[in-house]
Amino acid sequence: MKDTIKTIALIAHDSKKDEMVEWALKNKEILSKYELCGTGTTAKRVAVATGLTVKGYLSGPLGGDQQIGAKVAEGEIDFVVFFCDPLTAQPHDPDVKALLRIANVYDVPIATNMSTADFVITSPLMK
Ligand code: PGA
Repeated sequence: MKDTIKTIALIAHDSKKDEMVEWALKNKEILSKYELCGTGTTAKRVAVATGLTVKGYLSGPLGGDQQIGAKVAEGEIDFVVFFCDPLTAQPHDPDVKALLRIANVYDVPIATNMSTADFVITSPLMK
């Protein structure tokens, strides 16, 4: 992780967007210390709910996951919160897998559920 302000990417599949908003509100104070970005709809939902600035990429199914994956590869993202839906087939499943893979290639933490996101966001390593 770099020494400058860290960047957190937020992505939630449709059935997980309420959970993402809930998580972001719960952690609003912590999140306000970071640069935030996310896939289109998720970024908008979190920005509206929290009042925080969240840079929006394209919507996930239209390439947003790939854009965030590229930023991970470029070292621009330090933590990915990715609430994915394990019970619904996603049209952009290859992009989802690619994002998980690239985060592992670069050893970037990627939380795919709220419990993991809670552990990471409160970790002393985030500082
Ligand atoms: P969205 O994309 O935030 O634009 O809905 C998320 C996704 O489905 O990957």
